[in-house]
Amino acid sequence: MNEDNIAKVTDDRNMWPPVDLSTGNSTPSQHNTTMPIPSTPQGAPGNAGNTEFDMPYELVQQGWRKFWSKRENRPYFWNRLTGESLWEMPSLKPQFDPITDPLGICAPPPPVMPVQTTPIPMTKRRMSEELNIPAKKFILAGPWDLDVQTNIIIFERPPSSYMHSHPEIEAYRCSLLSKLRVCYEELCHSRESIDAPKDSFNRWLMERKIIDTGFDPLLPSCCFPEISQSMYKEIINDIPIKLVQPKFTGDARKQLSRYAEASKKIIESRDAGPESRKVVKWNVDETFQWLRKTVGATYDDFQDRLAHLKQQCQPHLTETVRSSVEGICLKIYNLSCEYAKKVREKTNIILKEHNMELPPVMTIPHTRKVWCYPIQFSIPCPRLPVVEYFPDRDQMQIKYQNDTLMINNIYLQKLEHLYRHSCFDDRKFEQFIPRVWVMLKRYATFLGVSPTTKNTSLDVHDTQASLPVTVFECLNRMFGVTFECFASPLNCYFKQYCSAFGDCDAYFGSRGPFLQLKAVSGSFEVNPPFCEELLDAMVTHMERLLSESSEPLSFIVLMPDYRDPTPSALVRIENCQFKKKQVTIPAYEHEFRHGLQHILTRSELNIRSVHGTVIIWLQNTAGNQRWEPTDEKVQALLEAFRPGRERERDRQELLSPTRQGSTSDTKEPVVH
Ligand code: SAH
Repeated sequence: MNEDNIAKVTDDRNMWPPVDLSTGNSTPSQHNTTMPIPSTPQGAPGNAGNTEFDMPYELVQQGWRKFWSKRENRPYFWNRLTGESLWEMPSLKPQFDPITDPLGICAPPPPVMPVQTTPIPMTKRRMSEELNIPAKKFILAGPWDLDVQTNIIIFERPPSSYMHSHPEIEAYRCSLLSKLRVCYEELCHSRESIDAPKDSFNRWLMERKIIDTGFDPLLPSCCFPEISQSMYKEIINDIPIKLVQPKFTGDARKQLSRYAEASKKIIESRDAGPESRKVVKWNVDETFQWLRKTVGATYDDFQDRLAHLKQQCQPHLTETVRSSVEGICLKIYNLSCEYAKKVREKTNIILKEHNMELPPVMTIPHTRKVWCYPIQFSIPCPRLPVVEYFPDRDQMQIKYQNDTLMINNIYLQKLEHLYRHSCFDDRKFEQFIPRVWVMLKRYATFLGVSPTTKNTSLDVHDTQASLPVTVFECLNRMFGVTFECFASPLNCYFKQYCSAFGDCDAYFGSRGPFLQLKAVSGSFEVNPPFCEELLDAMVTHMERLLSESSEPLSFIVLMPDYRDPTPSALVRIENCQFKKKQVTIPAYEHEFRHGLQHILTRSELNIRSVHGTVIIWLQNTAGNQRWEPTDEKVQALLEAFRPGRERERDRQELLSPTRQGSTSDTKEPVVH
């Protein structure tokens, strides 16, 4: 498909309802949604045929303009302030006085706008907007470029049947998820005498979400099989003890002895079969004898001995603890289902108070090709409770009940920009702060970090680490990349991206989870979190999209160079028929941005990568023709990865007298 032709249909690629790009049909009246959106013409109109002068003056003042639709051969109306468009002349809304009532609180709300909950001074419309003077373009400096338009085309999808973000519901959901995490840790302790494997709960959440068809955006509630292989394998892997690479010979000796001791304990205290009991006991005794009589053994001797003991005992230990470990997985899953149900009940109660109910899951046949627009909801948003916010030096504290979340001011401004681009039901930003709170709460709970402390010692942020800005710039310039397949509103570089939580991220530009994105064409960057099952599903998904589309489609995938112990997804992607190029950047020769960039200071952001990173270009034929990874371009990308490039870039931006915004996280926004 020719990009120029598409651009003529509409130049606002965030527009809702989406434009059918295959037919050019711009009338969404066939659109079967319960959203209270009028049947509208598509896209921001061009200047031709502007017939605003035969409209009531008040409507012009409210931002309405009249245009002529050549295709439909009739006039239509477009509001330059709210982006709304209608076939019929809009009815006159009562005016409010911008001096005494700047936010229009005293005026009756428009039909679907919920009433004001939180005044937001920083998002107050400017005088230029009030007076209808075209606003200057505002570029927000930061580690992102929110002006890049999407080149992604997808098959249209139904609006989301999730409930809108609601602080009370989210607080409840997150308290239950935290309880579930604690319960998991306790079960690992009490039943298997081990610490819960690090981050395994988070990986469990990601793994479950690949197959979950339940109704909660966070808590898995409808998965088959019920026992997660990811959770099971991670627990088993740490039984009888978690093995680590010892530093010194003494550590290697200690680890061998601990392994033997713990194996013996399992065999003696559990219901082990006679054969398992015999084999483990014999090997453990032999190890203890060897330890007693051997003097001057080397590091390697201890390690070899451990490998031998493990090989002999592990199958028997696994057999002995299997049902107990499966019991943990099952218990956590069942609890999750129960909790998801409780959240749903609470949601229904709140909706009922507003005379609303959750919608049924909608489906639409995947026939229309559209620009990749943000996720939409099928029900309107009920009134949200008040969420307070307090400036705290470079940060904002956002508080709901007794739960205060922090975010750097510059990131809050980023969210404001994303909201302006992607949220269509709250032009006055009345729900902005509550929705920010919900999103921050979701990520803090998902990651298991305390949002008020900058707990950088935890590695939970690993799943959120992002590429340096210089790399994104290069990907955009050299390979036409406009979209991140794995991101969050906090770590995204582009204003269009996929994320784990299509519900609370939607207002900030998310197109939902990547595995649900039916992409037809475009150029994508893919930097997934490390979860083997997710990586595997991701490869399957990309292969399918590439084989089903003849339009230009390209994925630049970045994965850690882990080949141990079972690197299935990486090997699969290396052998993929669509692979056009592969390069590896060695460990320590590149950096990532810290996964908690939205609460850290500038000096804490750049993290040297302790593993190599493999970059692989997966492209169909048309994608390869358009975005070919030539040696020159690949070289430019490797150069963009050089450590310190991001800081260097910031410095240069700062020194440049004509700078157009920058990546610095501390500078003031630049207005053009
Ligand atoms: N956007 C940055 C950082 C990626 S970190 C970059 O591309 O460099 C990986 C991100 O993927 C995290 O924010 C994580 O929350 C998100 N994620 C997890 N599961 C996902 C899914 N199923 N679909 C899309 N994003 C997902």
